Amino acid sequence: MLTAVLSDIHSNLEALQSVLEDARRRKAGRFLFLGDAVGYGPNPNECVRLLSQLSAPMVMGNHDAAAVSMLDIDRFNRHARAVAIWTHETLSAENLSILAGLPLTAHIGDNELLLVHATPYEPEAWHYLGNAKSASAAVEYYTERICLIGHSHTPFLAEIGQSGRAVSHENSVIFKPDSRYVLNAGSVGQPRDGDPRASYILIDQEGASIVRVDYDIRETQRKMYGYELPEPLIRRLALGY
Ligand code: ZN
Repeated sequence: MLTAVLSDIHSNLEALQSVLEDARRRKAGRFLFLGDAVGYGPNPNECVRLLSQLSAPMVMGNHDAAAVSMLDIDRFNRHARAVAIWTHETLSAENLSILAGLPLTAHIGDNELLLVHATPYEPEAWHYLGNAKSASAAVEYYTERICLIGHSHTPFLAEIGQSGRAVSHENSVIFKPDSRYVLNAGSVGQPRDGDPRASYILIDQEGASIVRVDYDIRETQRKMYGYELPEPLIRRLALGY
């Protein structure tokens, strides 16, 4: 079944709606969510509600954990910290409890997919796996054929063959029977690879591809100004960084 893999929404409703529309138009029959529903953006309640309506397998991100517990926000920069506090105060009790109930990892199919926000190694420590090259070390820490991650906001498709070396595929990859894969979905709501369009992954039995989708960035920015969220977080959406 064609599956849409979404990560790092960060309370960006316009980006989430555009991605869902795009995935449905391409006939995606299933959704997976890799964490960070909230943080940075203006619509935490709407995004959590919309995600939970997908009845998609979901895992927790560090910004979800911060919004729930207010723990570890000292590790955030001051802008992320300010929005984490705003998000915590803005989220409804129901949505806080949805986020609080998310697991750190999810296993899909018969040893087929591992879902984790940051890394398969110590998922609770929120390490970064930011490029395809560093993916070769990760495969030792899980048994599934494919590991789906987010967190770095930079999409990549890494194939780890029999040699143990990681090969990076630009926009799409055809799966080989003897290879394993680490696929980073990038970010729906705050891409950081220089391309401001929302990023997600489409995956089926044969392979996977990175999809980029235009959304109404100015509308998201308008709402963020309205809530007086930090200016650098508003500006970066248009830059894709
Ligand atoms: Zn994130």
